[in-house]
Amino acid sequence: MTYDPGNVFAKILRGEFKCSMVYEDEHALAFHDINPLAPVHVLVIPKGEFVSMDDFSAQASPEQVAGFFRAVGEVARRLGLDQSGYRLLANTGVHGHQEVPHFHVHVFGGAPLGRMLDKIEANP
Ligand code: AMP
Repeated sequence: MTYDPGNVFAKILRGEFKCSMVYEDEHALAFHDINPLAPVHVLVIPKGEFVSMDDFSAQASPEQVAGFFRAVGEVARRLGLDQSGYRLLANTGVHGHQEVPHFHVHVFGGAPLGRMLDKIEANP
């Protein structure tokens, strides 16, 4: 899948759309999700143009991968989630119900989150 520079997170990175920023460094930007699903719901995105986790894991440099995941951990610590715990989610592609085609990791926390997922059956 070709990267679409018109996606909403690309616009946030270019400063064309506002966000409620939590953290920024050379590799990543983190901001509050506009439609939070938990008391803490933050998105962490790489600054490079990667469509998805699949694209990022295949194409990003070791420095980009390390920098991004260090940023995710830093965000969780800054949000005070490291002691209480948190959940990461990277929706990917159609079955993953990815809506925004710029790789992002959701960070959920601030309350017990329950089991990871309701059981999903394969399509009959
Ligand atoms: P998904 O691609 O399914 O992993 O989810 C995309 C997420 O981006 C959803 O949780 C949306 O609420 C969130 N989102 C979409 N537009 C914005 C925005 N402008 N600012 C913050 N979060 C957004």
